[in-house]
Amino acid sequence: MDLYEPYIQNDRQRNLVDLAGELADVFSERGEAYDREDEFPYENFNDLKKKGYGTLSLPKEYGGEEISLYELVMIQERLATGDAATALSIGWHLGGLMELTETRTWDEGVFKELCEEIVANNALINRAASEPATGSPTRGGLPETKAVKTEVGWKVSGRKSFTSMARILNYSLVSATIGDTDEKGFFLVNHDLEGVSIEETWDTISMKGTGSDDLVLTDVHLPSSALVERDSVNPRGKNDLPKAWLLHIPACYIGVAIATRNYAIQFTKDYSPNSLPGPIKDVPEVKRKIGEIELELFKARQILYSVADKWVSEPKKRIDMASELASVKHVVTNSAFHIVDIAMRIVGAKSLFRSNPMQRYYRDVRAGLHNPPMDDMVIAMLANNALK
Ligand SMILES: Cc1cc2nc3c(=O)[nH]c(=O)nc-3n(C[C@H](O)[C@H](O)[C@H](O)COP(=O)(O)OP(=O)(O)OC[C@H]3O[C@@H](n4cnc5c(N)ncnc54)[C@H](O)[C@@H]3O)c2cc1C
Repeated sequence: MDLYEPYIQNDRQRNLVDLAGELADVFSERGEAYDREDEFPYENFNDLKKKGYGTLSLPKEYGGEEISLYELVMIQERLATGDAATALSIGWHLGGLMELTETRTWDEGVFKELCEEIVANNALINRAASEPATGSPTRGGLPETKAVKTEVGWKVSGRKSFTSMARILNYSLVSATIGDTDEKGFFLVNHDLEGVSIEETWDTISMKGTGSDDLVLTDVHLPSSALVERDSVNPRGKNDLPKAWLLHIPACYIGVAIATRNYAIQFTKDYSPNSLPGPIKDVPEVKRKIGEIELELFKARQILYSVADKWVSEPKKRIDMASELASVKHVVTNSAFHIVDIAMRIVGAKSLFRSNPMQRYYRDVRAGLHNPPMDDMVIAMLANNALK
């Protein structure tokens, strides 16, 4: 059965899934070589650019498609079945822009200019919020990156770690502590500026193709308008909304699980050891495992799609959806992990061969635990809500 049909609500969504599917199928052919050679998947990003994938979440008036959270989740899940690292990277770009399109909390002129740059030149942007000393920004540490006021704007210096697709970014949204205060702000940094450099520090076994390197800022001079978000200012009362766009994360990892599931199912049809009269698909224990995968996948996708749908169809409830969104991340990424584990048990030792995509899925799915919000924070949030 087509895995997408149950969730597709209209022709526009079907077209979007087809677009993501076309790209994913090409990416999956390249995945092994990129992973083995430790190369950044430049070709994948060129393909995304050719299809205008990075413009999809921009406002229609600025040349985008204004995709909804539901659509974002759907296309990112499909894209990740081909290459999770590319999907996660472009997910930061698309998701962040989706949030800005929905909230319009920035100065409109600055946002418009950025959108125009993305449409005209396929520019890429990501948030650079993690640092070696503060770790995950979701835990509340103040950035050690500092922004100092100058006569004409700001001077920013610091080091950001884990900056996905750093080497091809045109812009970053860099978190920094403002002057001598305890206030955090986000600065729009053009990577062409003097003082912006990338150190290729990303050397992992998981999500290698994200190229999540260090972004180093050395006395980077920015205009006043570069300070696009600050904690003390809530321009239109809208940026207290929970970060729903982060659902691109569970969408990505469940995409990995789907790829693993598809591989395992095909394997059960193809593999006929001579101890059996036919392929292993007819072995009751193998069937039981496939059923378990289907159940886990159903559970995870139902919760992912239903919460995304609620965000879209009931905007008044958005303000109260923080714990639902966080729970989706917890449930779905852990389900993805579990599905990959079951699928590898079906395939057996061959799942560990370097030439087998299963071992890459196994390594990639693990990274979901370290994207926000982390499991312990979700559980603490739920407990605190219950105890209120
Ligand atoms: C594939 C990938 C892509 C990424 N892309 C980006 C990106 O594009 N931009 C970006 O900004 N970031 C990105 N990140 C970084 C990510 O958001 C986290 O900042 C990073 O993974 C570090 O998370 P951590 O939990 O290991 O870090 P840490 O905060 O260093 O925590 C490490 C461990 O210490 C403990 N700990 C630390 N602080 C506390 C605390 N206050 N309370 C309780 N326990 C604590 C926990 O046990 C935790 O597991 C990416 C990460 C990955 C894996």
